[in-house]
Amino acid sequence: MISDRDILLIFPPLTEARFFPYLSLPMLTSYLRKNGVSVVQEDLNIKLSQKLASYKSILEYRDIIISKLGDKSRIAIEIRRHMCDFMLSNYEAIYGYIFEKNEDKRNKHLKGYELDFVRKIIEMILEGSLLKKEFCSFDDIDNEVIKFNAFMINDISGREFLSDIKEIIKNGNYQIVGISVAFYSQVFPSLIAAKIIKSICPTVKIIFGGPQITLFHEKMINLKCIKKYIDYLGIGDGEETLLMLHKYLNGEEVYSNIPNIIDTSISKVKQKLHVSNLHINEKPILDFDGLPIRNYMSHGMQLGVISCAGCSWGRCTFCSYGNRSRSTRNYQQKRIGQIADEFEFLIGRYGIKRINFVDENTNIKLIMKAMKRLKERGYKAEFSIRCRLEDTFLDKELCFELKDLGCTQLSVGYETFSQRVLDIIDKGVTSANFQQIVDNIYDAELELRLNIIGGLPTETEEEAKESLHFLKKNENKLGIDVIQMLVAEPQSFLTEREETASVGLEIKKNSNILIGNKVINYGMGRMGYEIEYKEGANYEERKKWMMQILHQVKPALNTEIQKKNETTDSTGKYNTRLLPWVKCISVIEEEREITYIVNLLFEKIYLFPETLLLNNDNIEPKSSDNEEDAYQLLQQFIEIGLAEC
Ligand code: SF4
Repeated sequence: MISDRDILLIFPPLTEARFFPYLSLPMLTSYLRKNGVSVVQEDLNIKLSQKLASYKSILEYRDIIISKLGDKSRIAIEIRRHMCDFMLSNYEAIYGYIFEKNEDKRNKHLKGYELDFVRKIIEMILEGSLLKKEFCSFDDIDNEVIKFNAFMINDISGREFLSDIKEIIKNGNYQIVGISVAFYSQVFPSLIAAKIIKSICPTVKIIFGGPQITLFHEKMINLKCIKKYIDYLGIGDGEETLLMLHKYLNGEEVYSNIPNIIDTSISKVKQKLHVSNLHINEKPILDFDGLPIRNYMSHGMQLGVISCAGCSWGRCTFCSYGNRSRSTRNYQQKRIGQIADEFEFLIGRYGIKRINFVDENTNIKLIMKAMKRLKERGYKAEFSIRCRLEDTFLDKELCFELKDLGCTQLSVGYETFSQRVLDIIDKGVTSANFQQIVDNIYDAELELRLNIIGGLPTETEEEAKESLHFLKKNENKLGIDVIQMLVAEPQSFLTEREETASVGLEIKKNSNILIGNKVINYGMGRMGYEIEYKEGANYEERKKWMMQILHQVKPALNTEIQKKNETTDSTGKYNTRLLPWVKCISVIEEEREITYIVNLLFEKIYLFPETLLLNNDNIEPKSSDNEEDAYQLLQQFIEIGLAEC
């Protein structure tokens, strides 16, 4: 019997993809609905984020901080407690603005940092959660999933996630559950979800798809938990896979016609895979209906779209996504009219003001033509693109035209300033042009945000310094979103074409250990094989070179970096008060009372100076002795963003 709700699609936690819906669900949903299949789409990642930032969760977390963080220092516990108090007392302003997009609720004293506060409290509550556990091999994940049971969940995040899963499954009657595993940090929560789903509804068919499955299916297929809880793995585009699987399960199709699928109950070598031929031009307009698009964590409502599949360049040796499309000669892009139609539809249906092209490498000229067409139809929306520091931007007029068409932001991969190394990784850009490109982008008032990769093959310390120097020199013109060490992903040229692409590296493809960017990236970021550098500095030394970027470059566009307030001309003598998120916290340490001054937003902590006195939120010299020194200190407080006049 076909149920009234045939397919449930889930985007699981934990990932930072919270600004707008990740596109896998809306893409699959639109295709399936167009073909008459009933679909429910659930973004459990944003649902969990919203729940964690709720008044109830913050209050609960505040009550259990001491028991939860028993091994932390007293000041660490107090900082968390003060953060909760700050969030609770500004709850309407922060939650209302971010999750309800209610501008009227904004409080100007928060100075536009609402998003940063929400992210901080969510990560605080997630601290130590089983959902956030980091794994360096699929074997470790397998063992943890097999031994997992719901009683092991003793934290707010895990409990909320499991209750969401149970509620959705119990309230529906699904034939297929598709789980989209876009990021490595979603693998473990996805498997837990599958285990719970199977325990409630053993007959439902579960299929995993998404970039992580495409990358790692050969490792995953052998896991006990995959064989036990997952019926199928989808590799590559999932639209036709899900439609045909649905037909097959209802006796309308033969299994062998389903593209991009692996049956986990059969050995992979015995399965003949064929690929989906669905072209991007045949894909319908994205369908976000059912997703809580107002609740995503961004300033104003935003959505994502794609204009192409694969990468027209496709040669950067570390990029499995681009390399796959080049190897299979399968780069595809939408038609100009198709992009304009999609924009027009999304603006009309969802009332959004900003759309982000989430292509890995957008064809700039294609987008400009599409945006011109949209403008001719009387529409305009802000948009962002992802691209390289390519020579297209040497054309200053083009940069201004891009801005005029609505472009506000460029996300760009930056690896090195050394042309020698750029050629080794086959990036296809010219470092001698970088300065002019950055200047043009800046002059056109386009926001330039970089994703930086360090630890490049054969890079010398001198070259790393030169690269750092370029970033430092331009820090007032850019933002940095991600910084990561080189990752040797399966299916990248780095791992598949070792003779030519992995010069200077030894890549340990036979090891089960996977390496990502622990601590630096959310959930370890992208994962790949271990890398050993054959000559010169080793991995750790190269990582130190890269970390210099974090220590030395202060990108003007990063809100999370505390800026020195150089514009103040205050002497600090008049009514100096702490900023709302700066707190004085006293704790007993080794039988002494110590008072700290803590910036909750930027996680900075200082000893409270003995020459100053806190009077409510005002801060002033303690006595007339050394008054000048005290005022100088107050001036410094203002400059480093602890206080204001
Ligand atoms: S890194 Fe970007 S430009 Fe290079 S192959 Fe990948 S998607 Fe294409």
